[in-house]
Amino acid sequence: MTTPNAPQHYPCADYPKVGNDLIVAGVPLRRIADTVGSTPFYVYSREVMTKRIQQLRQAMPEALRLHYALKANPMPALVGHLAPQMDGMDVASQGEMIVALNAGMKPGNLSFSGPGKSEAELSAAIAAGIIVDIESERELNEMARIAQRQGLRPKVNLRINPDFELKGAGMKMGGGAKQFGVDVERAPALLNNIAAMGLEFNGLHIFTGSQNLNADKVIECQEQVIDLAFRLNAHAPTPMRHLNIGGGFGVPYFPGDLPLDINKVGAFLAQALPRIQNHIPGVEVILELGRYIVAEAGLYVCRIIDWKISNHQIFLIADGGLHHHLSASGNFGQFIRKNFPVTIGTRPDDGEKEYVNIVGPLCTPLDMLAEKMLLPKADMGDLVVVFRSGAYGLTASPVNFLSHPHAKEILL
Ligand SMILES: *Cc1c(COP(=O)(O)O)cnc(C)c1O
Repeated sequence: MTTPNAPQHYPCADYPKVGNDLIVAGVPLRRIADTVGSTPFYVYSREVMTKRIQQLRQAMPEALRLHYALKANPMPALVGHLAPQMDGMDVASQGEMIVALNAGMKPGNLSFSGPGKSEAELSAAIAAGIIVDIESERELNEMARIAQRQGLRPKVNLRINPDFELKGAGMKMGGGAKQFGVDVERAPALLNNIAAMGLEFNGLHIFTGSQNLNADKVIECQEQVIDLAFRLNAHAPTPMRHLNIGGGFGVPYFPGDLPLDINKVGAFLAQALPRIQNHIPGVEVILELGRYIVAEAGLYVCRIIDWKISNHQIFLIADGGLHHHLSASGNFGQFIRKNFPVTIGTRPDDGEKEYVNIVGPLCTPLDMLAEKMLLPKADMGDLVVVFRSGAYGLTASPVNFLSHPHAKEILL
C-alpha cells in the first residue's frame, strides 16, 4: 500500500480544484459531463496544448521545425487546433493523412511513415503530394512504379534504422533488428538509386524511440542521430532538405517521474543547429513529437456506478476502463503496472481521503484504473478523472472488447 511519503505523481497544475469541482479550461467538470450528456468521455483542452507548444518554442532554437505525430491523438478537431501552430505533421496511415489535410496542413509539410504501406496508401500519398518516409526496399520500388504511372516525381525521405538506440526510452523504435526504416548499411546503396528511380530525395528520418524523461539521454541520442546524418549525407544524391531527428520526449505519468528538462535539450540543439547547417547547407531540422504536445491536455472521465469491499479493500467500480484507456490500465507498453495520476473530479482535495482500487466494468482483472491509491473519499455517481490522457488514449484502446458503449470526446 502506498504511504504518504511514497513517491508522488508530478502535479497536474493545469487543472485546479475549486471546492468540489475540478476545473478544465475554466469549466467545472460536472458541467462538462452534463454537456457531453453521458460518461465515459475524454475532454481535451485547447489552451493546455497551446501552452505546451509555446513552452517548446521558447525552449528550442527558432530555426527548429516542430512537427506533430497524429498517432498520439488523431481527433479531427484537435488536429485542426494544432494545424496552424505546427510547422508540419507526421501521419502513419491514409486515414491520418486525410485528417491532417482536412485540418489545413499543406501537403509539403506532411510526411507519411510506418511499415507496410500498401500500394493504395503510397498511391494516395503521391497523389496528395505529401512526403513519403521509405521504410523498405519494396516501398521504394513500389513508389517508383506508382510515380511513373501517375507521371509525378514524389518527394521521399529515407527512414533509417540507426545502429544505436535511445537509452532510457519507454519504447525503443530503432537500433538492432527492427521493422522500422532500413538498416544503416543498406542506406548508401538506396540513396544512390533514388534519383535514377524518378523520385526526389527530400531527406532523412531517424526516429529512435518514445517516452524519454532524461534530457542527457535524449541529447546523447540526438548527437548520434546528427553524426549518422553527417555520415549518410555523403551519399545524398541531391542536397538534403529535411533532417527529421525524431523526438521521444516523455511525460511524467508515474509516481516519482519528473518532467523532461526541455531547456537542457533546447540548449543542446541551439548549439547543434549551426553545426548541422554548416555541414548540410540549407537543411531544415525537424523535431517530431506526439505525446509531449497532447498528453497533458487530455483527461479521461468516467463515473462510479458500484462500490464494494473485498478482503478489507475498497473497490470503486466505474463505467469506464481499459476498453477506452488501455494505457492507464497498464497494458500498453508497461512492464510493471503503475498508476496514472487519478483524482475524484467531484470531491475536494482537502477533504476526507481513503485508499481505493478503481476498476472498470470489463470482466477481466486487467481492467484497473487505480490500484491502492489514496484519493478523496468518493461515492456512487462521483466522477473519476485520469490525468495525462491526451495521448495514446481512445484510439490506442480496444474499444470493442466486451462490447460496451464507446467513449465520447470533447474539445474545450
Ligand atoms: C510514434 C511516433 C512518433 C510519436 O512519438 P511520441 O512518443 O508520441 O512523441 C513520432 N514519429 C514516429 C515516426 C512515430 O512512430
